[in-house]
Amino acid sequence: IELKPTDFQDIKKLGEGAAGTVWKVRHIPTDLIMAKKTVTVDPDPKIQRQILRELSFLRTCGSPHIVAFYGAFLDDGDTTLAICMEYCEGGSLEDIYKRARDMQGLIGETVLARIAESVCRGLIYLHSQHVIHRDIKPSNILMTRDGQIKICDFGVSGELINSLAQTFTGSQYYMAPERIKGGAYSVRSDIWSLGLTIIEVAQNRPALPPPGQPNLSVFELLDIIVHQPMPTLGPDRSEACRDFIEKCLIKDPEERPGPETMLEHKFIKTWSDPTNSLGSWLKEVWGWP
Ligand code: ATP
Ligand code: MG
Repeated sequence: IELKPTDFQDIKKLGEGAAGTVWKVRHIPTDLIMAKKTVTVDPDPKIQRQILRELSFLRTCGSPHIVAFYGAFLDDGDTTLAICMEYCEGGSLEDIYKRARDMQGLIGETVLARIAESVCRGLIYLHSQHVIHRDIKPSNILMTRDGQIKICDFGVSGELINSLAQTFTGSQYYMAPERIKGGAYSVRSDIWSLGLTIIEVAQNRPALPPPGQPNLSVFELLDIIVHQPMPTLGPDRSEACRDFIEKCLIKDPEERPGPETMLEHKFIKTWSDPTNSLGSWLKEVWGWP
């Protein structure tokens, strides 16, 4: 079914990022609830067609660890692109850890390990489709109502990445050293970002900038990522959990494990349980009946 701008009804605004705005919407013809993200793109119709062509790859994506894609179209005006995807009712990991912080709760290692496992599986799937995510961070990892963890906002369209390049400044905190140095980008750069993501969710606040150095310039921050030791978790977390993060944050991408190796790590093995979903945990987090 083809998606058209006039077939949608806004329900509520879900959030706003550096590049776009996300709305919970109803697709009237099918009565499906979706998340609709709008971003501003180049007005050149040739570039826009190229973006839509590249995004159509997403239709063929099918993995329980990837947010499903319903379609994309040019929305009102000539520079607004709308991307329609599966609505994930649990929100992003950023929404979830902030909620946990407000309730003075710490997110347990069962949950952290399931995040690590789902992201690794999602990255393996993308890699098998020759896609590198490029923007792993808590706001791009979502939970469905029944507690499945899925990744979204990956770099599937080179033209879209170019088009957004001007506004795209938000994610330096998660950038791997090899990217900063202008080296090759690989799935292992996403593993680095996963390490920082797990620290952030575990302590309910971003891993970088390091505590006690809140006012770093971008240059100082990038220098720390390339040359200084990365933050670690405290002794309140298990040896396996701390080791997993340490492996993610190995500075040399040649030595840093890829997602397949990481799946074999004790931290994931210990908590892996394909039958137990996080649905009841999420219910408690959001106070759902
Ligand atoms: P940035 O622009 O720096 O990447 P971001 O990822 O938060 O930040 P968006 O991708 O525009 O920016 O998303 C904004 C917010 O919308 C997210 O933080 C999340 O809470 C919500 N959101 C995005 N996609 C969905 C979805 N499919 N289902 C439910 N909520 C979503
Ligand atoms: Mg996002």
